[in-house]
Amino acid sequence: MITISFLIITTILFVFGTIIGSFLSVVILRSISGENWVKGRSRCDSCKKTIAWYDNIPLLSFLILRGQCRHCKKSILPLHPMVEVLTGVLFMWWYWAGSLFFRLTIAPYSVLQPIFWLMVGVILIYIFIIDLNTMKIHNNAVISLTVLAIIYRLSLSFSGIMQIVDLYSTFLAALISYLFFYAIYKLSIVIYKREGMGFGDVLLVVPLALLLGAQKTIVCLFLAFIIGAVVGLIQIAISKGKTKLRSEIPFGPFLIIGTAISLIWGQYIYSWYWSLIML
Ligand SMILES: [Zn+2]
Repeated sequence: MITISFLIITTILFVFGTIIGSFLSVVILRSISGENWVKGRSRCDSCKKTIAWYDNIPLLSFLILRGQCRHCKKSILPLHPMVEVLTGVLFMWWYWAGSLFFRLTIAPYSVLQPIFWLMVGVILIYIFIIDLNTMKIHNNAVISLTVLAIIYRLSLSFSGIMQIVDLYSTFLAALISYLFFYAIYKLSIVIYKREGMGFGDVLLVVPLALLLGAQKTIVCLFLAFIIGAVVGLIQIAISKGKTKLRSEIPFGPFLIIGTAISLIWGQYIYSWYWSLIML
């Protein structure tokens, strides 16, 4: 049942998410350019003038200023509103999903689990945006995500929320996914004499598989390849064949979209797929 309070909380969380997203977009830009994360106030990416607070309201300022800096009139990077929207959506999703399944877990997990998934979401947005813009996946982000996922899985199984069989199958899924992507990575070097896929993608599947568990990992990889192929074909169509099929498309974003879909509908898609085969 959607109530007024549900809508109000959703709106507040979206707004709060865009504020976090505003900080996150600065962190992302600074780590792309190798600057210090906490280096004073927000500045225009072009003219470096300090941005006044009223020009720094997430999303709203971008719309009011029509995407231009007040001083130099250069375009504000679309990365800013993009990260703000994504983080706002993450907070909304977190509340919707959380009001269903975080209630099922017992203390202290009823508190730790929501915090964990919020951190995972923020790190995934970070990896997603950086890979999309630079075709690189930062090792630090992948390592943080892996450590978080391992602690999460181990603590869930030690406290009895997760069965030990599922723990083994999750680690096995991470290992197999890694070997699978490593094989693709090596093969593309042997056949095409260059990396068809970044090594960052190979490493990224490890924490994603740990987060998803065996069944949802299969769904995630399946979705990532399908979405990647569709986007690749659309790109070729738009560029009228100038883009080659094997031209560089970052694969990390597809893996992350696959993860987001699989986290919510993975179980359903998995059962549906097997019911098709078993017919
Ligand atoms: Zn400017």
